[in-house]
Amino acid sequence: MLGKLRMIEGNLVFFCPACQIPHELTPSYFDFDGQWASPTISQDIVYVDNERCFPYHCHSLVRNGFIEFLSDCTHDLANTTVPMRPFGCH
Ligand SMILES: [Zn+2]
Repeated sequence: MLGKLRMIEGNLVFFCPACQIPHELTPSYFDFDGQWASPTISQDIVYVDNERCFPYHCHSLVRNGFIEFLSDCTHDLANTTVPMRPFGCH
């Protein structure tokens, strides 16, 4: 089963192509519009991983099945918008 956004162990999860890992969102803090094929999430998504490098910052918006990376990201996809990728367990 592949999806762009999935519910895994009670969290909304999507694959981030910039960080190359899934990002997990707690449904009580994030509003999802229920469109699994083309998701929109109302809040900004911030991911920090200072073990990766310092400072490491991934800041994105998920809209209509696309991930919009904002300018304060420290990775190469800052200021770009990319389609969400389906991912799944194998
Ligand atoms: Zn990320």
